[in-house]
Formats: sequence, structure tokens, C-alpha cells
Amino acid sequence: MSTQLLNGLVVASYGKRYGVELEDGRQISCVTRGKKTDLACGDRVEIKLTDTSEGVVEKLKPRQSLLYRSNSFRSKMLASNVTQVVIVLATTPSFYEELLNRCLIAAEAAGIRAVIVLNKCDIGDNSEVLARLQDYAKLGYIIQPLSARQDISPLKPWLHAQTSVLVGQSGMGKSTIVNALLPDQQVRTQEVSTVLDSGKHTTTAAHLYHLDADSQLIDSPGLQEFGLHHLNADQLEHAFVEFRPFLGKCRFNNCRHLKEPDCALQQAVTDTHIPARRLAYYQQLRLEMQ
Ligand code: ZN
Repeated sequence: MSTQLLNGLVVASYGKRYGVELEDGRQISCVTRGKKTDLACGDRVEIKLTDTSEGVVEKLKPRQSLLYRSNSFRSKMLASNVTQVVIVLATTPSFYEELLNRCLIAAEAAGIRAVIVLNKCDIGDNSEVLARLQDYAKLGYIIQPLSARQDISPLKPWLHAQTSVLVGQSGMGKSTIVNALLPDQQVRTQEVSTVLDSGKHTTTAAHLYHLDADSQLIDSPGLQEFGLHHLNADQLEHAFVEFRPFLGKCRFNNCRHLKEPDCALQQAVTDTHIPARRLAYYQQLRLEMQ
């Protein structure tokens, strides 16, 4: 076997094994050295082949961005080198607005653009939810109504020339979106499974797909929670975009914006510059942090 290092892209992560795509298009099943398993889908790496279809990751190249989520115990890398997060919502079943906020905060903290997709717009009456999402449009987030099973084309311009990670609760129609964007996705999934000799879908797997030469899509497992324990207090308050003009203007330098007197954020809610619901989400997260 050649000892030459080959450039690769992590296109699938299954716990301790990774699917790595080489520049010639081949997919190799890779492990990391030792106990290190700190790679994410989207990572650019250098690998050494140990067999025709197996290799070892020797080097991780610097990341442009890294999206995290966490639970109470540890942080988990969701995707790397992404330029935007596409948050998929639907009204059937209903979505958790708190989860939407957590995704937006994680995106802001990672310096990544966020697109909010309201899927399944062909089912039921979505006018109330669309009106509610206008609060987020006012904050500068892109809102795209969609019915992925009828017509995926409204989403395509947002994905062009981006590396997007698709996140959402289970049941929001995320896989319908992936299948509509990639009609041969089933085939691709099987290829990856065969390469990794897993033969089954594991719930922890994330996959990267090429939409075209300039656009990639990373599908991530359905979320039921989205922990933000990896953020510190400063990152958290800055992740609420509409808070930024008011930060540093509270009476106390170390104001937590909970019940402190002369808090600029609480005043901004009174003056309707900040939606009350957003400050409430912030306060809940700030309390979780303590
Ligand atoms: Zn304050």
C-alpha cells in the first residue's frame, strides 16, 4: 500500500467510523488514530490507505465553521465547514418554537447563516404559523414556505453555492426534502452503508451529499432536543441578534438580564424593540447555564 497522504472529505459519520470521499470520487471507510473520534461530517482530512477501501485519518484540516449541539453531559459536533443551517419546521405535527430558537442561537454562535423552512404547506392552514414566523423574518432570518412533496424548487436558490446542514425535529419532512433534492439518494445511502459494512441506518449518522459542483447538503438525524451548554454567557447573549444594540447598556456590567434593575434588555422589551418571547427564551437558557 502507498504511504502517500490523500485529500478527503468526511461524508458520513457513524460513531467511530467515517465515510471519506477522495478527490477521485472513491469512498473509503476510515478510522482515526487511537481513541480520537473528533471528526464531523464536512471535515476536510488527509488519509492514508490501509487497504483498497479502508484507511486511517492522519490529519484534520482547519475548519471554516463548526456547528455544535450538546446534552447535559457533552458537546457533539453536528457538521463542519457549513455556510448555513436550514431549519425544517412543519405544522403537522407541530414544531417546538423553543427548538427553533435553540437552532438559531447555535447558528449565530457558529457564525453561520440560518434559513427557516416551513414544510408541508400543502397540509392544513399554515397562516397563523407563517404570521408568527414573521417575528423571525424581522430579525433578518430567511423564511421559506415549502411543500417538498409537491415542489422542491423554492428551496433550491437558497442552497446554491452553499454547504448547508439540514436540521429539524423528527416528522418535519426532512427526508422528503433530501429525497426531492436527490432522487438517487437511496442508492447513495446504500453505497455508504456497504462501504462502512454497517448494512443498516444508524440514528447517529450524518451524511453529506453533493447537490452540484458548488453546493453540498448535510443531512443530520432528527432532533428532539438541542442543548446549548457549549456556549458561555457572552456567546449566548450575542447569539440573540436583536439584543446586540442593547448589550453593555445595563446598569451592572455583569447583568444577566434576569431581574436586575435598570436592565437595558428588559427595558427594550417594554419599549417593544425586543420580542418578549425571545427574552424569555434567553432567560431560560441563562438559568440553565448556572
Ligand atoms: Zn441586563
